Amino acid sequence: MMNATLSNEALAIADAADALLDAYYNGPVLVMGVYEANGQVFVVKPNQQKSRLYAKVWENGSLTYAPGAIYKLHPCHKVSRERGEELSVQIGACCVCGRTLTAEKSVKAGIGPICGRAFSF
Ligand SMILES: [Zn+2]
Repeated sequence: MMNATLSNEALAIADAADALLDAYYNGPVLVMGVYEANGQVFVVKPNQQKSRLYAKVWENGSLTYAPGAIYKLHPCHKVSRERGEELSVQIGACCVCGRTLTAEKSVKAGIGPICGRAFSF
């Protein structure tokens, strides 16, 4: 390959293109929400720019960023609506989008107001 002759700028563009392709191919496959895999609970949510999804793992009572975990999760790991609500109440994150819930009513329901409306619970 010709990588050795590419400038850093060209490599950065190639990386950005890779990231875009990744988001394009992974986006429709994995959706935000609660996942269970290998006995662990993950919350998949969009990054701040909403350009891609990432996963946090629920461990020892808190949600921690799990680098690379998003690539190991599969749509079949997504939990059912009922299980999602159950886990979300413990985690304090919305079972649909993974956002941290703060309002008491939302925490009890395991779903945020926006997702609650969208999914008409
Ligand atoms: Zn939500």
